[in-house]
Amino acid sequence: MVGKLMQKDKFNYFIKTEKNNWEVIIGLEVHAQVVSESKLFSGSSTKFGGKPNTQVSLVDSAFPGMLPVINEYCIEQAVKTGLGLNAKINLDSIFDRKNYFYADLPAGYQISQYKNPIVGEGEINLDMPYGSKKIGIERLHLEQDAGKSIHDLSPDNTYVDLNRSGVALMEIVSKPDLRSPEEVNSYVKKLRSIMRYLNTCDGNMQEGSLRADVNVSVRKKGETKFGTRCEIKNVNSIKFMEMAIDSEAKRQVELLESGKSIDQETRLFDTKKKETRSMRSKEEAHDYRYFPDPDLLPLKINKSFVENLKKKLPELPDQKRDRYIKKFNLSPYEANVLVSEIDVSKFFEEVIKTADIKLAKNWIIVELFAVLNEKNIEIKDSPVTPKNLAILINQISSGNISGKIAKEVFDIMIKTGSSADKIIENKGLKQQSNPEEIKKIIKKVLDKNSEKVLEYKSGKVKLFGFFIGEVMKISAGKANPKLVNEILKTELKK
Ligand code: ADP
Ligand code: MG
Repeated sequence: MVGKLMQKDKFNYFIKTEKNNWEVIIGLEVHAQVVSESKLFSGSSTKFGGKPNTQVSLVDSAFPGMLPVINEYCIEQAVKTGLGLNAKINLDSIFDRKNYFYADLPAGYQISQYKNPIVGEGEINLDMPYGSKKIGIERLHLEQDAGKSIHDLSPDNTYVDLNRSGVALMEIVSKPDLRSPEEVNSYVKKLRSIMRYLNTCDGNMQEGSLRADVNVSVRKKGETKFGTRCEIKNVNSIKFMEMAIDSEAKRQVELLESGKSIDQETRLFDTKKKETRSMRSKEEAHDYRYFPDPDLLPLKINKSFVENLKKKLPELPDQKRDRYIKKFNLSPYEANVLVSEIDVSKFFEEVIKTADIKLAKNWIIVELFAVLNEKNIEIKDSPVTPKNLAILINQISSGNISGKIAKEVFDIMIKTGSSADKIIENKGLKQQSNPEEIKKIIKKVLDKNSEKVLEYKSGKVKLFGFFIGEVMKISAGKANPKLVNEILKTELKK
């Protein structure tokens, strides 16, 4: 039996058995839907969730004689993404036909790019707990999506929805540089983050805007040649990618250790059984008979087109992280957390326009994230707006409320969306900072506990905390802790 534990050894990830340590090799082909109002070769809408077959032009349904017209905006999006991946932009590229038969592919071929993609080699930087690591990008090419076959509406029929037919996809192929499910998790998130910064793919995995074919092989530790890989098709969540790799790698190790070999094949991940199963083997592999699409001219891009896009490129996650570390004195961890989602960084920058940076980062990373995670909501839908969080933080900075009371106020803000100022006023939560008032309370506590005061004076200094606790109780947590501390010290010396 193959060991259950996957063991990490600095950069690598091994499956440990009685006989060997096995290394896992992974390469990803990510399909990312291009952000664009209209499709790659037609003017129909790409909007998600429309009634079936309402966003289909004659080109998308492959009526005879219809000619594709390239959507320049999609080209721009692919080039921007290539620049974001530090990749080579190919000024000459070619659209090919990839031929296969399926009911949801009315033309009988998909327009894709084969030998000459629009973007060549690039790389993505990952910040792993054990250091940073570069993952090579092999290529990025443009292609059309197919329609959707719906098998579960009727026991006897399959329905076809062509709304997706012709939607532009970028296929981003990594080198086989990934070594663990964690690295794959980090890679997909980083890629998604870059594309969201660029607004070239919305990265919405529930809606199918981002999905991946996951290639997995194993080899014994120390070996330099790669083993035979299997490709797990169309995985649409990061969690499933991690689970699929885990189970597929173990399956391969078990086969190899029992003296068998790996067939290169296409597999599917069964999300219920949490294992992969065979879909088709190499022998049955398609011959797609790729050839340049005679309806489309080779794509030529001007150098100036690329240069212009380069100039307009926004600040990307890695640059933003470095800037945050330097300018705001954040730790690399904090900076990474705040830049990984563009909406989080926007929220943070909005808060610190008017509030203290140190408090802002802590309140976002600790308190706000806890709530968003628990309620499973995105930061852009946060019940607490950046402005309102800034108001709360300013109430703390100015000494109007203590950190403890601030948490109470925050909870109410989450529930009601009401402003921090209003809550503090309505509930009378303002911190008690009048020294005379505090002195009164302290005197009350000391009079009531005269024996404990004697014990304190004879050396039982631990009782200090008890007195503080009593004062806070009487003031309903509102007494300014710093003042209580100071005044109590003086009173006890008397
Ligand atoms: P294909 O077009 O047949 O899918 P590619 O050469 O384009 O083949 O490779 C597809 C993906 O498989 C790439 O992401 C690559 O990194 C990955 N890959 C190639 N060899 C291996 C291997 N031995 N183990 C794991 N992944 C691999
Ligand atoms: Mg492939």
